[in-house]
Amino acid sequence: MSFNLIHEKWIPVRREDGARELIAPWQISESLNPVTALDAPRADFNGALIQFLIGLVQTTMAPENDRAWRKALTQPPEPRDLKEAFESVSFAFNLDGDGARFMQDLNLDNGEEKEISALLIEAPGGNTLRNNTDFFIKRGVAEQVCLSCVATALFTLQTNAPSGGVGHRTSLRGGGPLTTLILGEFLWETVWLNVLTSGDFIPHDGNSNIDETLDIFPWLRAARTSEKGSGSATTPIDVHPMQVFWGMPRRIRFALADIQEGICDVCGRQVARLARRFVTKNYGVNYEGAWMHPLTPYTEREGEPPNPRKGQPGGVHYRHWLGLVQADAEIGRMPARVVMEFWERQSKWPELHDVFRRAPRLWAFAYDMDNMKARCWYESTMPLSQISEKGRATFEDVVARVVRTATLVAGNVRRCVKQALFRRPSDVSGDLSIVDARFWQGTESAFYSFLREFRDKANDENALAYLKVDWLKTLGSVGERIFNELSQNEQLEISDPKRIALAARELRRLNAPTNKKIRDILDLPKGK
Ligand SMILES: [Zn+2]
Repeated sequence: MSFNLIHEKWIPVRREDGARELIAPWQISESLNPVTALDAPRADFNGALIQFLIGLVQTTMAPENDRAWRKALTQPPEPRDLKEAFESVSFAFNLDGDGARFMQDLNLDNGEEKEISALLIEAPGGNTLRNNTDFFIKRGVAEQVCLSCVATALFTLQTNAPSGGVGHRTSLRGGGPLTTLILGEFLWETVWLNVLTSGDFIPHDGNSNIDETLDIFPWLRAARTSEKGSGSATTPIDVHPMQVFWGMPRRIRFALADIQEGICDVCGRQVARLARRFVTKNYGVNYEGAWMHPLTPYTEREGEPPNPRKGQPGGVHYRHWLGLVQADAEIGRMPARVVMEFWERQSKWPELHDVFRRAPRLWAFAYDMDNMKARCWYESTMPLSQISEKGRATFEDVVARVVRTATLVAGNVRRCVKQALFRRPSDVSGDLSIVDARFWQGTESAFYSFLREFRDKANDENALAYLKVDWLKTLGSVGERIFNELSQNEQLEISDPKRIALAARELRRLNAPTNKKIRDILDLPKGK
């Protein structure tokens, strides 16, 4: 019997009462003791599993219209309905067996055999081993891996694939894409909040050769390889637009001959079957062109293909609100399609928020990739409050000003810390990222209180002005605290009290509510 990802119970979850178990994908809508969250042994696995589920539901049971979407949000479909919908593609979800296998190449003669640990993204490549910098995971730690973890690791790799040396292609969104989605209280909510109506995924009629299933799941055909010379790129019109969820840049096939029973090195479960090796080859599918993944924010500039945002050192904070939660038109940063859809749905259906016991949040996650190597995985969530359609433009304008003011003040702090520490600050290129890290963390809770209070006072100009001044005071005092801590560091060999005092005065001047730049950005009313 083969290990089929539709039939098998392989997805680790937590239920409302805290119970942990493995379920089959169609169980996500069970109403008794409902599933609240994914519960994989690694955080990046949870990020992969949620995309697997959203992709599966989007592919097999997308709602025809808004009405159908609303209905299934308030009354989740029965698990047997999900089972029936998923059954239509189950032939494409065998992880093993002789034929087509989930996210694996049909034929890998003369491939290179590798240990299973190389499938895990942080497994060091040749260079990191040579330089002995593989602190992320100890080599050889994952010698044998269960099929549940193998399936997840495979999806994780195909979905995030970093550059991996000559011909080892990156994911459809490049190496280490940033993923953002709407997080609900229950797993079904989270999946369904990120599913678009079917009209959003009509195949391009420019290509009549597209087959509904064979071109959605690239592993059902011989791989569209991308060797030098013959090199074919794969754009959305070459295949099915839905392939956006099922990209297969890496050519991989598990070697299952030596499969045996034992304990999985990733999740620690005792299982009947463990994988130890896989075969791989370079020049897999080379995704190019105007792919738009609905779960990723993009930078869009005229005359260029949309550029998917990537993970960044330092992670995601409210400083990234512009571009992740709301558009930043000034620099062409657009939130993920599902995030924009969330706001649209809310404006068409003001009762949307009444459905939730707990307000939805934005869930953002990514690897911070350094070329072939993952430096770390980070994720964070941000609350998404309900905004009336009428107040939305004002809300977005004010929030943009509030975030930009914080960016300006953070820059002032950085500059003045430099002035305090160095005689010729312009010559110093030192890393002051610690200033940013502390500043954004130190002002975060004040930002969310601002949003809450602003919602209640949006129509009261006077109250709004006071709120803004309060915000500025918070920024200023957090900035000053960081300045004091860093500039009066006793370990500094040469500190100059006069230079520090001057820089401190300069910081107060730059961040004062009377400063013209600040007044303009924050749009403070004239006078006192
Ligand atoms: Zn496992």
